[in-house]
Amino acid sequence: MRAAILNGPGDVNVETVPDPGLADSTSVVVEVSHTAICGSDLHLYHGLHGSPGIHLGHEFVGRVVAVGDDVRTLTLDDRVLVSAVIGCGRCAQCLGRNPVRCTSGPRVFGNGLDLPGGQAELVAVPAADTSCRLLPHPVTPEQAVMLTDILPTGYYGARNADIRPGDTVAVLGLGPVGIFALQSAQVMGAARVLAVDTVPERLAHAERLGAIPVDATDGAGTVAAILDHTAGRGADSVIEAVGIDQTISDALYATRAGGTVSVIGANLGMEFAFPMGLAFLRDLTFRIGLCPVQSTWDELIPLVATGRLAPEQVVTHRMALSDATEAYRLFEAREDGVLKVLLDPTR
Ligand SMILES: [Zn+2]
Ligand SMILES: [Zn+2]
Repeated sequence: MRAAILNGPGDVNVETVPDPGLADSTSVVVEVSHTAICGSDLHLYHGLHGSPGIHLGHEFVGRVVAVGDDVRTLTLDDRVLVSAVIGCGRCAQCLGRNPVRCTSGPRVFGNGLDLPGGQAELVAVPAADTSCRLLPHPVTPEQAVMLTDILPTGYYGARNADIRPGDTVAVLGLGPVGIFALQSAQVMGAARVLAVDTVPERLAHAERLGAIPVDATDGAGTVAAILDHTAGRGADSVIEAVGIDQTISDALYATRAGGTVSVIGANLGMEFAFPMGLAFLRDLTFRIGLCPVQSTWDELIPLVATGRLAPEQVVTHRMALSDATEAYRLFEAREDGVLKVLLDPTR
């Protein structure tokens, strides 16, 4: 089969590799029909924590073409979406749909050599009963790809933000995940969403969705702008969807006393200077975590199926898997208004 392989920083190529087989009796093999490149794939692309030979991709959907003997919920030819993050499939946390808290630890497709990813024609999916969900009618495959990671992550960020009807919520970072956090905050009843970024097209997109665009390059910056919009109090909740220390710090300083900071931007740093006195004296709640994708499906699938959320709208580019080298280059360079790239493994 063909797969997008990362051999070093900035070095992605489509190569022919052996077909994957069933890893064990609880796994399935999925023939990928739609897959996406994620902002977090760029961390690997930049060589931050990658090893050579990684099969990239953690966002994919497709058709089941092989089934282990102990898989109970899936059969051949089923169309499925697959969670980007999986666990052992047996512990109480996995059975409760939280693979991030799996007692054996979570694993993410396409982030190491042990779990090859989905920017490929075929993928082996372990613990299939807890990792997959039948593609629910009338959700389209393109919508389903968004349900494998980024829509759940944005939604999880809003769920962790303690949003109540009438609240003012700020979202820092308007990539696809930030956009989904914005829309989730609206679904949860936020009266106002302050949408913060520095890229004009992203601010315009947020404004079209009914948010108040806040250009962080204007004036004294993010914190001052949010205080300005909230009569100096700060937002009821701030969702951080960038993943750098500065925006996490901004989130803490822009939240009102008694409010909640929710961090979903991936930040693997270990040296963050947490403003303890601020959080202590302002009675702040701080939440951060990798999204347990499966735990959001019962809520998000109906919202997508009824058109309340239309996550496919973030897709700006549809390319062939064979063009993965160019797709990564374009995505990394932020050329051509790119927000989200889908790859078609049949081409
Ligand atoms: Zn992703
Ligand atoms: Zn587990």
